Amino acid sequence: MTKRLYIDTVGCQMNVLDSEMVVADLRKRGFELAGDLAAADVILFNTCSVREQAENKTYSALGRLRSFKKQHPEKIIGVMGCMAQKDQKLVFERAPYVDLVVGPGQLARIPDLLDEVAAGKGPQMAVSLGRREGPVEDIKRSHETFDPLRDPTMRPTPFQAYLRIQIGCDKFCTYCIVPMTRGPEQGRDPEQILAEARVLADQGCKEITLIGQTVNSYKHTSGGRTTRLADLLHSLSQVDGIQRLKFVTNYPKDMTDDLLQAVRDLPKCSPYLHVPAQSGSNSVLARMKRGYTVQDYRETFSRIRATLPQAAVTSDFIVGFPGETEEDFQKTYELVEECRFKNSFIFKYSERPGTKGAELYADDITYEVKNRRNNDLLALQNRISEEDSQRFLGERALVLVEGPSERELKRRAGGVSPLSHGDVVQLTGRTPDDRIVVFDGNPRLVGEIIPVAIYDVAPHTLFGAVVTEHLSGAGFQPALQLL
Ligand code: SAM
Ligand code: SF4
Repeated sequence: MTKRLYIDTVGCQMNVLDSEMVVADLRKRGFELAGDLAAADVILFNTCSVREQAENKTYSALGRLRSFKKQHPEKIIGVMGCMAQKDQKLVFERAPYVDLVVGPGQLARIPDLLDEVAAGKGPQMAVSLGRREGPVEDIKRSHETFDPLRDPTMRPTPFQAYLRIQIGCDKFCTYCIVPMTRGPEQGRDPEQILAEARVLADQGCKEITLIGQTVNSYKHTSGGRTTRLADLLHSLSQVDGIQRLKFVTNYPKDMTDDLLQAVRDLPKCSPYLHVPAQSGSNSVLARMKRGYTVQDYRETFSRIRATLPQAAVTSDFIVGFPGETEEDFQKTYELVEECRFKNSFIFKYSERPGTKGAELYADDITYEVKNRRNNDLLALQNRISEEDSQRFLGERALVLVEGPSERELKRRAGGVSPLSHGDVVQLTGRTPDDRIVVFDGNPRLVGEIIPVAIYDVAPHTLFGAVVTEHLSGAGFQPALQLL
């Protein structure tokens, strides 16, 4: 009998990919996706631990299932991902009706563990070894994710995919829980990565985003030969069908010239670099143990600009890190002003038990101050983003069409008349440098790379009109199935 799975995913691209793999694995065992929680036999929460708020939301969602589980004891509730690895038995203590707790390095065991629960063997837990719980090779193995299985229907779009090239992180920034939840840094075998890229291309994927916590530190050695990210980009560029290659997230210190030159010289590489600075103050960076100074970051940034003058560079910042003074914050503000990032993701510091930061520093910046700094930096970044977008006015952008825009989807959910042939809808897509473009077009364009003329801009969106050139019919999606 077909079983139905509901999976709720929060957090980073790693989690999106993990969910995709779990779904693919469970489909092989007869599962289908349920549209909502109530219709599911198995409910999985793929969780994030990077900030406390993400965990609180998961625990609240679990709390809402307490009476549901009483009414439907046969339904299986599972918690997977970083919070499962971090909290382990605590999840069962806070929500005793949870059946399954599985860390991100143990996801391949989910189908078997579901069988155990269904067989009445009680709650099941599978987590990886902690960073000091044995020989390093054992710890590494316990964090290895299972063989890639691709399920195109779980991807953001069938023509875009994440491809993990690196597991874990060894940087140990003092605020960050990731090295604990995802284990030691390991570069995947380049042969495996290439094989996976070919599978994705065969399935119709046009854009691959390589992912790793510090993706540009990627390294794999076998048979005396070391492969780095630049080498991988050269090999992946030769995979037929793949038209765009991106990679996230970069560690500022490991941004080598050969990598920047690969991005410049390989036409398939997107001129888009996410290079989180985190702070503009040397004393904060030192307490964060980021391993670089603001001068080092500036040096990296100017090398990027020298090799890739048109590239879109984005960053992450944490405001309200313990001990951050107004003067420290001012230096961050000045760095954002100076670098003129395409966009910055700004986070209020959240103390994470289990990190060095939680052990060493009191979380001494009030919520009000964190909030004000967050808003000030956001306002500055929005102004810069809008000014930066202006230069696209009147330009043509090559857009990979992703699908109907959010506004269009809401309109359709609100019951507008069904689509008929020739109708035009609001679509959204991305430029090679990761800018979002909104325009009207026939849904058949979804999955195509097309020229769009830009006539208006907002801080994070370009608005345009399709430039009608010769459009081949081959490969177009049936329009009426896309909404
Ligand atoms: N590996 C990536 C890197 O090194 O930039 C990002 C990992 S983390 C999932 C994404 C972002 O979350 C970080 O760049 C940082 O700005 C933010 N972050 C991590 N831990 C945080 C914490 N304890 N409080 C607030 N923000 C945090
Ligand atoms: Fe976390 Fe730092 Fe590793 Fe990024 S580099 S995952 S912020 S420890």
